Amino acid sequence: MVRSDVFLCELCPKGCRITEGYSGDCRSRIVVDGELRAVTYGRPCAVHIDPIEKKPLFHFLPGTTILSIATAGCNLHCKFCQNWTISQAAPQDTTSIDLPPETVVKAARARGCPSIAYTYTEPVIYYEYVLETSSMARKNGLRNVTVTAGYINRRPMELLCEVVDASNTDLKAFSDSFYREVCDGRLKPVLDGMVLMKEKGVWLEITNLIIPTFNDDLNMIRKMCRWVLANLGPDTPLHFSRFYPMYKMRNLPPTPVEFLMKARREALDAGIHYAYVGNVLGTEAENTYCPKDGTLLIERIGFRIRQNKLKDGKCPTCGDTIPGVWNHGARG
Ligand code: SF4
Repeated sequence: MVRSDVFLCELCPKGCRITEGYSGDCRSRIVVDGELRAVTYGRPCAVHIDPIEKKPLFHFLPGTTILSIATAGCNLHCKFCQNWTISQAAPQDTTSIDLPPETVVKAARARGCPSIAYTYTEPVIYYEYVLETSSMARKNGLRNVTVTAGYINRRPMELLCEVVDASNTDLKAFSDSFYREVCDGRLKPVLDGMVLMKEKGVWLEITNLIIPTFNDDLNMIRKMCRWVLANLGPDTPLHFSRFYPMYKMRNLPPTPVEFLMKARREALDAGIHYAYVGNVLGTEAENTYCPKDGTLLIERIGFRIRQNKLKDGKCPTCGDTIPGVWNHGARG
């Protein structure tokens, strides 16, 4: 039983019970004066303009820039986190600026960014800031993107889907024990959240960071691809990303490029139409090809587009529609 002076946070599956003056596991949701709040509301600790390819999103407004913000904290604690200096920090230990939703929207418009990303740390834990900025962005003709681990309860995810246009969701491994031991989370809520996003029409791409000796298991990758195919469909792009030693996993080597290529091959052989390799420069695995006739559609080098041959979202050779959101016009 929960005492009346103990607040239950129902935002994510951690279900923290929090008393006055204390924070939940994510460090940013704190009970102050008898109210549970995100103390980071309107106070990002990171603000940048990125190419959208950096999120990575390859089928969503390619070649555009995206205003990207983050506040401190995270509800997971991945031992390999690439942004651990802000994701694993308490808000008071980071430098933040005052940036209310209307200023974020104005800044995006002033800099010619057609979309805003809630990224770097975990947008779930600055939920209210994301919701309000997103709905204001929508009213101003901008789109919204979450780059997330997707560790959130169903009801808040449903509300988020009403204002978010696209998401790159990390699927850290197709293994509950990996989630428990390496990330301090669980697998199932992440899978459920992705299915929900797809049902609600959010454009979804998935990133799987492959870490040597931890999740570099082709059988697991095969199972993951089968699950994606059956539950999200073959047009959900999968990005296999190269691990570099970081945070509590500095003792491991970077992922061998050959293994990433094998993972991509598994995905394509399983029937996934768009599989990419990320964090590796200058390979054909960064490009988009027509799944029907193999035509090179978008050629990339790093985060830069070299050429985009799509014609109104269609393959110029066979005329097949390539799924994605390809222009700034009406929402698809
Ligand atoms: S969002 Fe934060 S406070 Fe709320 S349940 Fe999750 S970890 Fe706990």
